[in-house]
Amino acid sequence: MRTLDELLDTLEGLEGRSYKAYKDIRGRYDAGWFGLDVLYVQGDPFAAPSRVEIRLSNEEAGFPDWALSSPARLRALCDWIHRRLERAAPSGSRRLGTGKGGQLGISRASQKVLARTSVQWKDPGFAIRLSVGLPARGRRIMGRAAANLFAEQLPDLIEGGACFTEGDAEDLRRHVETVEDAAAMRDRLRDHGLIAFVADGAILPRRSGVDDRPMESAKAVPFAAPASLRAELERPNGPPVVGMGIREGVNLIVGGGFHGKSTLLEALQTGMHDHPPGDGREFVLTRDDAVKIRAEDGRAVTGTDISAFIRDLPDGTDTTAFTSKDASGSTSQAAAIAEALEAGSRLLLIDEDTSATNFMIRDARMQALIHRDGEPITPLIERIRALYAEAGVSVVLVMGGSGDFFDCADTVVGLRDYHVEDLTGEARRIAAEQPRTVAPEAPHPFYLPRKRGPDPRSIDPSKGRHDVKTRSRALRSIAFGMEEIELDAVEQLVETGQLNAIAAALVEARGYFEKHPQADLGMWVREVADRVAAEGPESLTSRAEGDFAEFRAMELAAALSRLRSLRVRPSFSE
Ligand code: ADP
Ligand code: MG
Repeated sequence: MRTLDELLDTLEGLEGRSYKAYKDIRGRYDAGWFGLDVLYVQGDPFAAPSRVEIRLSNEEAGFPDWALSSPARLRALCDWIHRRLERAAPSGSRRLGTGKGGQLGISRASQKVLARTSVQWKDPGFAIRLSVGLPARGRRIMGRAAANLFAEQLPDLIEGGACFTEGDAEDLRRHVETVEDAAAMRDRLRDHGLIAFVADGAILPRRSGVDDRPMESAKAVPFAAPASLRAELERPNGPPVVGMGIREGVNLIVGGGFHGKSTLLEALQTGMHDHPPGDGREFVLTRDDAVKIRAEDGRAVTGTDISAFIRDLPDGTDTTAFTSKDASGSTSQAAAIAEALEAGSRLLLIDEDTSATNFMIRDARMQALIHRDGEPITPLIERIRALYAEAGVSVVLVMGGSGDFFDCADTVVGLRDYHVEDLTGEARRIAAEQPRTVAPEAPHPFYLPRKRGPDPRSIDPSKGRHDVKTRSRALRSIAFGMEEIELDAVEQLVETGQLNAIAAALVEARGYFEKHPQADLGMWVREVADRVAAEGPESLTSRAEGDFAEFRAMELAAALSRLRSLRVRPSFSE
């Protein structure tokens, strides 16, 4: 293997040459205390920067054994290193010459602790993937500056960001213990019959709609559980944590406008992920199959069985395999539920703010005016009990606008000035005193949606002369071959790296369904998600990607279900 000094000599020799000559530096180098692999070299100074991998043994990095002693701790440690590198990178790099020259960087982490390809534990050390803007003046290589980048700035960044010093011990310990505690407590939710838990003292509101950091502490009202909903969860690294337990079944969150209902639900919808210390949601924990359900008019729906909610459309459309290029609010929301159940979820989170009214309720006056025969929609209110009773599907529903759901709820949580109270008894009393005058309308029992078998030919990542062409655009969409998969409304996607990884998984879908013609969509997404959970997002690519992050079966299903070219086999059955 070549040494780092040989790389530096090569770079100096490239001074003034044309940019393409940088391609010569691809390959592996031994830098003494770390290994360097130049994985990818950009074609010009404005292109996406080059990518390198650093191999650093823990003998050099020096992290203490306690930071490596469990899978949760290792995941937390890699996240901790990532965040430190991210903080150190901007100051450790200067722009040099044209374009992105001189910049050392790492992918961007959200407020979640995720397994990422940017920093991975590969026994006996770490694999760290960084981007490097190789410097040029115009299109002429700045070889001496590049040599300096590899000789000085890169080692400084590794030493400052990826090596342990005693001064880090307290901060690191808090990070790994918090993550390990949260993961252990989340694992215990099922044993307690809980679907979610919110610790006392948690800070739920965020700084803004585009800033996921906690609201300034002077303004934020910390969470406090009402006595009747108190629960306690044990954890490995400290005394049990006290907070509010949300039980299986139908849970209603009520309260006046602006009193914090959506904020609570939004905290719950990311509670399947761990959060770094200081986030405020460290111990806001949600069962890992929770899916946010919302209306999304205009989306594509393909062969989805929405007949539990919608049937007998005026044009005779078959709603057991409903297809639309431009779904309405109610059909998109019904499809979202069917797709969540198909992917394996048994926990739905729904907010009135993002729901279609006609999907949620139908009141007595409307029943009187529009007879049941003229309404294809069986609203959620008629289904929500059966969802739980017949399919074990729990719901957390934010509803400030209608008391009709009081009859359906096992628990009614009230929010007043951001304080939580248990209103279950009060809501029951009101429901008894003012019974609903609407006649029950569910015409048939609830059943799980029919499975879908995707047609492999309809999942095509090719574009022009490229066999595979995908690209994610922030958290908004994935360009997949000739298609654009819109993901704006898939709120539980939290990091661009997840979209990159999902795009790679989708590329495999075609081959999988060709090989397994009897497989259904739910089977495939669960298989992929299990592999990602066991082997990391790295397992989705052979290309040593630097910005892949783990995702769940549900988000993969959401992406494939929104692919406009998707077809499902009509005769498909299990
Ligand atoms: P709702 O859904 O009940 O109408 P929201 O959850 O949208 O209310 O909250 C309204 C506003 O109150 C938001 O700007 C949110 O940031 C803020 N907020 C929510 N919870 C808290 C809290 N615990 N402390 C301080 N501000 C909060
Ligand atoms: Mg709201």
